[in-house]
Amino acid sequence: MVQLTPARVRYAPSPTGLPHVGNIRTALFNWLWARHTGGQFILRIEDTDVARRVEGATEGIMESLRWLGLDWDEGPLVGGPYAPYVQSERLPRYEQEAARLVGSGRAYFCFCSEERLEAMRAAQARRREPPRYDGTCRRLPDEERKRRKDGGEPCVVRFKVPHRGETVTFHDLVRGEISFRDEDIEDFVILKSDGYPTYHLANVVDDHLMSITHVIRGEEWISSCPKHVLLYHAFGWQREMPVFVHMPVTLGPDKGKLSKRHGAEPVLEYRRQGYLPEALVNFMALLGWSLDDKTEIIGREDLVKHFSLERIGATSAAFNREKLDWMNGVYIRQLSPEELTDKLMPFLEEWQARTRAPHFSRSLLRQVVPLIQERLRRLDEAPALADFFFVDELAYDAVLLAPRGLPPDAARDALGRTREAVSALREWTPEALEGGIRGLALELGLKTGPYFGCIRVAVTGRAVSPPLFQTMAVIGRGRCLARLDAAIEKLKQGAA
Ligand code: GLU
Repeated sequence: MVQLTPARVRYAPSPTGLPHVGNIRTALFNWLWARHTGGQFILRIEDTDVARRVEGATEGIMESLRWLGLDWDEGPLVGGPYAPYVQSERLPRYEQEAARLVGSGRAYFCFCSEERLEAMRAAQARRREPPRYDGTCRRLPDEERKRRKDGGEPCVVRFKVPHRGETVTFHDLVRGEISFRDEDIEDFVILKSDGYPTYHLANVVDDHLMSITHVIRGEEWISSCPKHVLLYHAFGWQREMPVFVHMPVTLGPDKGKLSKRHGAEPVLEYRRQGYLPEALVNFMALLGWSLDDKTEIIGREDLVKHFSLERIGATSAAFNREKLDWMNGVYIRQLSPEELTDKLMPFLEEWQARTRAPHFSRSLLRQVVPLIQERLRRLDEAPALADFFFVDELAYDAVLLAPRGLPPDAARDALGRTREAVSALREWTPEALEGGIRGLALELGLKTGPYFGCIRVAVTGRAVSPPLFQTMAVIGRGRCLARLDAAIEKLKQGAA
């Protein structure tokens, strides 16, 4: 195997909200690359857009990463050699670097007011030209610029794009060579009037200062990349430019944009809905990457072992909830009953707090788990699948109690005989129950289909349930007999 150089990669979210799947997938790919190469995964908070900052978003980002098991080696809370890792705490560095560019004539102060810029853009729109800065302050004589700056006039710093009629080219690992015409790149702002850097400046300065080797991010940043390349050159850092890897966006199931229902909910919402982090990690890894175009189930360790940047595809992957649910079911079935019980506890406790189900306990849930494990696709389905194990009384549907092929009178008699037979059993085990009940079916000449269906409704309240005899064994003798009585009573009322 080729010895890989340990990579230094970063996930650099802006705290403008809770991350969703499309977004946190970027963190996953970076994390996988760091772990695969034995390098470092860095979390950097890009909070320089003050107006878009959202209270609690940074905590939500960290919570999402923690839940998915994407631990960061450097960043908020854990620190590291390049601390701080929150951009608003690094302002002097950006100011210093911006000043360096102004000093070397690569950037300039711009005094244009918002109103003037708006009027300029409106005029450009009327002429059907793309909106871009018209260079007014680029042409100011030096003395005037100095006078206005010294006079305290509000200003921003703009990068002076060389505009030589050339192309700005960079290599992208997914798409190969990408070129932009320098005429199409406006003199962009690098330092705002409030002293905060723009994304472009802060991102490049930090990637450089933090010795980032690979920039792995969504393809929506491709159009920013030529600006970054120009900055690397202006700073004289072009030799240490990171490798760029722009991943295809994740689309909704209809190949449209991700929507609230499909992928764009916060990652933590998936936790609430009972997805396992392992399943989500596996699912997200396949949104844009593949092992061999056919393997679907790949655990975390294998992902780390086999992950490669070369196998990131250029075509967008569609978010498919059906597939995620299926995958989650696979991971649920891989859990031991003990583990699954632990994972289900919060969901059932929450349900119990609402319903006050009197028989709920961890030990009873532990007995129920093997009966529902096969059928679960999401942990939050458990209360609906298993509630009858934990409640006292069931609400019967008289129609269900007398299934087709068993008229109400016959059903009532059959349940009465069943009650007699099972109450006489010495042991209350699935085997004993099955022996007794099958024997009775023979004796009474009842078809097992409708007959078992009738008992099933009597002890579970529903027509579909886990295997009948195991279910009865777990519910216990006392409650099963009481339920048979209640069902007989219900059928009597129906007849009256
Ligand atoms: N702060 C940017 C974001 O919110 C980072 C983009 C990049 O990785 O360069 O996604």
